[in-house]
Amino acid sequence: MKTAANITIDQNGKLSVPDHVIIPFIEGDGIGPDIWHATRLVLDSAVECTFRGERKIEWKELDAGEKGYEKTGKWLPEESLEAIRQHVVAIKGPLTTPVGKGIRSLNVAIRQVLDLYACVRPVKYISGVPSPMKRPENINMVIFRENTEDLYAGIEWQAGSPEAEKLAAFLRDEMDASLPEGAGIGIKPISAKNTKRLMASAIVYARDNGYPSVTIMHKGNIMKFTEGAFAAWGYEAAREQFGDLTITESEVYEKHNGKAPEGKIVIKDRIADMLFQQVLLRPEEFGVIATPNLNGDYISDALAAQIGGLGMAPGANIGDQCAVFEATHGTAPKYAGLDKVNPSSLILSGAMMLDYMGWDKAAELIRQSLEKTVKSGLVTYDLARQIDNSSTLSCSDFGKAIVDNISNCRQE
Ligand code: NAP
Repeated sequence: MKTAANITIDQNGKLSVPDHVIIPFIEGDGIGPDIWHATRLVLDSAVECTFRGERKIEWKELDAGEKGYEKTGKWLPEESLEAIRQHVVAIKGPLTTPVGKGIRSLNVAIRQVLDLYACVRPVKYISGVPSPMKRPENINMVIFRENTEDLYAGIEWQAGSPEAEKLAAFLRDEMDASLPEGAGIGIKPISAKNTKRLMASAIVYARDNGYPSVTIMHKGNIMKFTEGAFAAWGYEAAREQFGDLTITESEVYEKHNGKAPEGKIVIKDRIADMLFQQVLLRPEEFGVIATPNLNGDYISDALAAQIGGLGMAPGANIGDQCAVFEATHGTAPKYAGLDKVNPSSLILSGAMMLDYMGWDKAAELIRQSLEKTVKSGLVTYDLARQIDNSSTLSCSDFGKAIVDNISNCRQE
């Protein structure tokens, strides 16, 4: 085995992954340590079983969150951010948002500082997981949520503050806007550049992973110059950068009798509120969904519920120069240290990370073994309360049960 080395990335975004690779991790706060320990065991075991010692991950811990603050006096040390840049790929547990410490959210800060502009959240049903849907097997969507702008940009002022009053006066006096007295004010920036790069990454993902459509989710009927512009720029990006690969839904109906030509990715758009309805009634009509930040936040959790809840939904924040894979849920403080919660979200995020590195055989082994574990009725409390005759395992025992199935695959 060669000595451990970093992943590198070239100008075109192509990764070079050494066989013995160093990957940084942030354990996270609250339930973070519990789910990380289970995840690490599963990832190491899948890599070992798949590559028989030819490939290996050396983990490198980074400081952040409460643990980082205790050690360094900083919630998000610059050294940790720099290490993610250097190592290109990292994985993290959930981080507490420090209340009243001048930091809006550590997670949002990581995404913005590292310019991880696409929040990618696959929502695919795993057989055996309890779901409120009649036919959950029809759910196979991937959300591309813009991560760097929209109302998440953090440009807002409290009602009654001198800044809010000053801005309100400017809007009333110079822009002829009508504002209620004493309103809090937030700004919603949405730009062509950031929309187009998000849309391009969604189309590339659809192409590389065989999804037939990219749906632009927006509220452009009301917010014409932000959400409406997002939709218009999304179509523009498809036309300008992927003209040969894509076709709009209207063209499909106008020129092809409603049937998309072979090999073309259909670009369509849906108003946000209507999409919430359609993903429940006709989920099979949607593949990749590209959307601004706030819509993406809402639809991610709603779709996660359709496949068994937040504990089952993986996620990644991906930019042109680095990527951070993370559980979609928070720190669930009431379960901290109880070894109780479901580690699947972080485990499946780890599998996404292996896919991203090109170690997809190990990723597939993880998904199969997790499915096998759930199907055999061995689950954590959140799934056990929905499955009759299941056995409730602790977080660590659930991780070990997946590892047992990984090891069995090796013998089969
Ligand atoms: P949360 O931590 O996601 O937990 C809400 C509920 O979701 C839990 O009480 C639990 O439901 C369920 N849940 C979450 N993770 C689970 C898991 N692994 N297994 C099973 N069930 C799980 O949301 P929150 O309580 O609103 O947020 C707590 C803190 O996390 C806040 O400081 C917030 O800022 C932060 N946060 C961080 C991230 C991130 O790091 N990316 C994301 C969101 C929130 P039951 O009570 O029904 O069992």
